[in-house]
Amino acid sequence: MAKLLEGKPIAEKIRALLAQEVIELKAERGVSPRLVALQIGENASSEVYIRNQKKAAESLGIEYELRSLPEGTSQAAAEKAVNDLNEDRSVTAMILQLPVPGEIDAAKISGLIAPEKDAEGMHPKNIGKIVLGKYSIGPCTSMAIMELLVSTGVKLYGKEAVVVGHSDIVGKPISLMLVNNFATTTICHIATSQLGHLADHVKRAEILIVAVGKAGLIKGDWISPGAIVIDVGINKVGDKIMGDVEFDSAETKASFITPVPGGVGPLTTIMLMRNTIEQFKAQARAEKL
Ligand code: NAD
Repeated sequence: MAKLLEGKPIAEKIRALLAQEVIELKAERGVSPRLVALQIGENASSEVYIRNQKKAAESLGIEYELRSLPEGTSQAAAEKAVNDLNEDRSVTAMILQLPVPGEIDAAKISGLIAPEKDAEGMHPKNIGKIVLGKYSIGPCTSMAIMELLVSTGVKLYGKEAVVVGHSDIVGKPISLMLVNNFATTTICHIATSQLGHLADHVKRAEILIVAVGKAGLIKGDWISPGAIVIDVGINKVGDKIMGDVEFDSAETKASFITPVPGGVGPLTTIMLMRNTIEQFKAQARAEKL
């Protein structure tokens, strides 16, 4: 039976280390990291994220500000808000809260965030650093997956890793991180399934990462004995939240498996905070503070 890979205890350990780091940084620099969340319009689903971010930031001594632009804000006004935050030296990191109203081009707004203030690690320049294997920040979900893998103590070197899902936010960056750690990495996606090859790839996986958004896509009997299974998927099935992997049968074959909910999710906000602190440190090194 697999060991459960729960995110919360790992998040707590990282939180304690980061809190200490912020105390030291503040003593050295006289200022704290300051994260601004830019929200455009109103959205109920963003409220939960904002509450979690505020709580996490404050527990670490990071200043947190929600800057809300009203419904009906123009693209030009939203772009100006980002440019103003870029120029404000007291703001050391920012995040664009998604979703934004339909008339706003979110990709364009995100792209305007200065790479050195990008808390989500999604700016092309920051993604480029992952490609080059020289990064201290990265997309939060991928960084969370890496923490879960590290917590198993299993070396990735030469392991067969299979990533199912090739989104810009999860599948692609985690694949690069696995390759940077010398895992032999295969990326599967919708075409892999459509041509009937998904099961064959999954069956080879010693490390399996699934980020698709389809409940039960990965069958338990595809899991190779002893595999590490990280299920990123979040699917509402009736009144339950389920992952992309058939948990009950997969659990009998894997060595480690993440629960859904409770695996990757609890680590993502703390990864956002770690990115925020890393950006602050980089700005301090560049004497920009
Ligand atoms: P996405 O929705 O942008 O893309 C889905 C990916 O799955 C694509 O690469 C697509 O080709 C692939 N795909 C679709 N159908 C497939 C099939 N039948 N077989 C194989 N591949 C298939 O992906 P995303 O934004 O990375 O989100 C994926 C899932 O992860 C969603 O359920 C999302 O809610 C969840 N998620 C969770 C967290 C977290 O913190 N736990 C964070 C981000 C995303």
